[in-house]
Amino acid sequence: KLYNQVQDLKGNIRVYCRIRPFLPGQLPGLSTAEALDSQTISIITPAKNGKGKKLFTFNKVFGPSASQEGIFSDTQPLIRSVLDGYNVCIFAYGQTGSGKTYTMTGPKELTPESLGVNYRALSDLFAISKQRKDSMSYDVSVQMIEIYNEQVRDLLVSDGVKEKYPWRNTLEIRNSSQNGINLPNTNIVPVSSISDVIELMNIGLKNRAVGSTPMNDRSSRSHRHNFLLSFLDSVFHYFDNVLNLPSIYACVCSCMTVHVQGRNLTSGSITRGSMHLVDLAGSERADKTGVAGDRLTEAQHINHSLSALGDVIASLAQKQSHVPYRNSKLTQLLQDSLGGQSKTLMFIHISPEPDALGETVSTLKFAERVS
Ligand code: ADP
Ligand code: MG
Repeated sequence: KLYNQVQDLKGNIRVYCRIRPFLPGQLPGLSTAEALDSQTISIITPAKNGKGKKLFTFNKVFGPSASQEGIFSDTQPLIRSVLDGYNVCIFAYGQTGSGKTYTMTGPKELTPESLGVNYRALSDLFAISKQRKDSMSYDVSVQMIEIYNEQVRDLLVSDGVKEKYPWRNTLEIRNSSQNGINLPNTNIVPVSSISDVIELMNIGLKNRAVGSTPMNDRSSRSHRHNFLLSFLDSVFHYFDNVLNLPSIYACVCSCMTVHVQGRNLTSGSITRGSMHLVDLAGSERADKTGVAGDRLTEAQHINHSLSALGDVIASLAQKQSHVPYRNSKLTQLLQDSLGGQSKTLMFIHISPEPDALGETVSTLKFAERVS
């Protein structure tokens, strides 16, 4: 019955839009995006185009005051359907600094109120499975990967393994999945509480390619009481989040996958569901010009992958017979969870600053195409 609540006429693809507030320390200017109602976003375009405002509608539009809890409660039915055996994909899309990681994970300093979708989803799954314990027994396990330049990397490897056997960190995707598992060599770790999950997420965060250079290793930098390093940290943060320049090591996505297997205690029947929680690369990288070398290679891979994802979701939304899953590692990896009986939620993120307007418009156009 929860399934019906998340269905609508468009089928299994939903688009939610979230407008980030102005950040502390930022000069609060005039916002270029406004939530007109719960389904409409209004964009202020330069008057020289003739029109001052342009409206876009989505399944949900959240304004800058939306809370993490409010965002989650609109996502909850989708997440609960994983326990009933559905495959779910949740994507965060938008330019760098628009709030993708905030929605999925939360801010740098987490508080109970600021926990993102990932944490809330997992604790919800644990809570529901407890409620159902007289009729169902659930096994929950987690995998975390990232895609960097069309390589799939396991984020749940210990430091030792990663240094000694770097090739183990590049995973092959199996064409047809068995039990919903299409990365046979990845670490899939059983979890039974939210603290297990937080521990894994911390390992995953440490192993991300973004942390591979000392200069960009935020987690270690923020613990050093060194003026220069903390100064550098704020510089990098500024570059990442305010200027929207490419930071070091740009992955196509990082993805946490939750596998849920349920057994009916009376009939013995098994249900399997999975949930992919995908934090995508900043969409502005797709059309960044003027970068060279490694940054250019990364930008090209991101460009390719994000448009492959757009193509797949658009062809599903339009119910086309051919869905071009094979065009990127990202879509290949998610093939079993996109289309068919699966449910997809694209969370698009909007920055309110006038500077961001160009990217805002391309984000909204991307979302219009897939919805
Ligand atoms: P992205 O992952 O898209 O690059 P982040 O999630 O890192 O963006 O957000 C950029 C900055 O804005 C971070 O400091 C984050 O904590 C803050 N932020 C994003 N969304 C919100 C929000 N809804 N409320 C408060 N702060 C936010
Ligand atoms: Mg991010």
